[in-house]
Amino acid sequence: MPYTLDDCLFCKIVSGTIPADEVHRDDHVVAFRDITPKAPTHILLVPTTHYPNVAELAADDPHGLAALVVTARALAEQEGIDRSGYRLLTNTGAGAGQTVFHAHLHLLGGRSMS
Ligand code: AMP
Ligand code: ZN
Repeated sequence: MPYTLDDCLFCKIVSGTIPADEVHRDDHVVAFRDITPKAPTHILLVPTTHYPNVAELAADDPHGLAALVVTARALAEQEGIDRSGYRLLTNTGAGAGQTVFHAHLHLLGGRSMS
């Protein structure tokens, strides 16, 4: 059973306590559409184990971070944005705009990102 936090929004989505528009789920990664999309494709990818940010995830479980990136590539193909290009973004710390303190990647695409 992965480590989870009771009061963490994304842990609740991982456990199914809170519903989300899921596009992928396996033992390591859950991906779902952002509730406030900033682009035609805006998907969040989260590890099933709680880490406060991607740096902590990478330090403790580098394969877990790689799994997020590889899943993002597969979802980009599924969304038809792999050829046009996509952005993987992560915020670390409130000052950078992080609002949910469970590691996640934003997968953004479907419009010009330049
Ligand atoms: P960040 O600001 O980098 O921590 O990203 C958190 C993201 O979570 C924001 O883009 C929010 O729009 C998104 N978000 C917040 N609550 C939900 C939810 N219940 N389902 C899907 N996305 C959410
Ligand atoms: Zn969490």
